[in-house]
Amino acid sequence: MLSRRTFLAASSLPLLRGETARAIRFGLLLDGRGGAISDATVLIRGDQVEDVLAKGRRAPAGYQQIDLRRFTGLPGLIDVHTHMTYNNAPKPGGGQWPPAARLVLAEENARKTLETGVTTVRDLNAAAGLSIAMRDLIQAGRMQGPRMFVCGAGILSLKATRGRRNDQTAEGPAEVEALVRKQIAEGADFIKMFASTGSGPDVSGDPTFSYEEIRAAVDTAHALGRGITVHSYGPAAARDALRARADSIEHAVDLDDETLEGMARQGVFYVPTIDHNRYYSDIAPEQKNWPAGVQAAFQQFIERNVETARRAHRKGVRLAMGSDAVNSMFGQNTRELAWMVKAGLTPEQALATATANAASMLGVERELGCVARGAFADLIAVDGDPRKSIEAVVRGVKWVMKGGEVVVPLRNA
Ligand SMILES: [Zn+2]
Repeated sequence: MLSRRTFLAASSLPLLRGETARAIRFGLLLDGRGGAISDATVLIRGDQVEDVLAKGRRAPAGYQQIDLRRFTGLPGLIDVHTHMTYNNAPKPGGGQWPPAARLVLAEENARKTLETGVTTVRDLNAAAGLSIAMRDLIQAGRMQGPRMFVCGAGILSLKATRGRRNDQTAEGPAEVEALVRKQIAEGADFIKMFASTGSGPDVSGDPTFSYEEIRAAVDTAHALGRGITVHSYGPAAARDALRARADSIEHAVDLDDETLEGMARQGVFYVPTIDHNRYYSDIAPEQKNWPAGVQAAFQQFIERNVETARRAHRKGVRLAMGSDAVNSMFGQNTRELAWMVKAGLTPEQALATATANAASMLGVERELGCVARGAFADLIAVDGDPRKSIEAVVRGVKWVMKGGEVVVPLRNA
């Protein structure tokens, strides 16, 4: 993966002059790999973790000490489904902000995301190359925000656009293949395909791409060393995505046992994005163009979504936390974790959906989602023990470090 190489190049450098060596002490450290270490000290050099010292072992001289003993330390969290560049902030005179303005507005979404403890996102659709530019600006240190893995623009069928062609549409396997190649050439880290209807107030899940078209996208992405995720609100396109060997499936409800068993067997991740429709239900009363009864439709979809997540988890499918945050939902990125617990995951398993599972899905499990030697120094401090209550993570983030730099200073506990 391109961005992984970029990250590694940065992190394998020896300590540069002027870089700080820090020692951060936590009352408890959950390292994202199953380890729970009390009175742990994390040694950080440059942007990576140099060592993790267990109880009683103190940092050698020369390290700047940061005392967070009142808190639990965790790896920086990963939100695998965002739309960082979506923004419907009011514009003088009305209408939508143009792309250049949306890139500026996205910085607020990035900041709110960091404040939830999320230091890495997978961004799943943006117009005009915005997410690629944003990823690169953040990577270059010219914009503050989480690390971004981006698909650029998601692939749409003409069914979804009612026949209107644009730079995101493709029809037939040959066009799909060409578009996948073009997107990767333009800098996409992976591919996203919208294989069913379902978006905003529309919670239908009718397939919009054929199995052959999905297969063409998957084969082309994989041949070029990239992953691919498939958007499906309903079960049919998810079934095709599994058969085509896609790497993950977003949203889908009502998945049958055979599909879930196949996902578990093939290691296909399920990203339920349950909280997204909670947010839409909350804002529905302010939406002038949404149909009457839309809140009931959201509630019904949420119930089916929770039930599908419950059954997926029972069947051994690996889940990853995706907020599907858009517009004013940023800052609520981790509320999805509470839904994971409602779906029957233990708090510890829920936390893993935003650490180990998510990192594994992105192919960066040694670099992210863990606090271990050689990993990026992405760390957060939370109030309380997330193993007892996931609310410690959802509402208790007090301090955030990304790549060895404090990006959210300690807040009043
Ligand atoms: Zn989405």
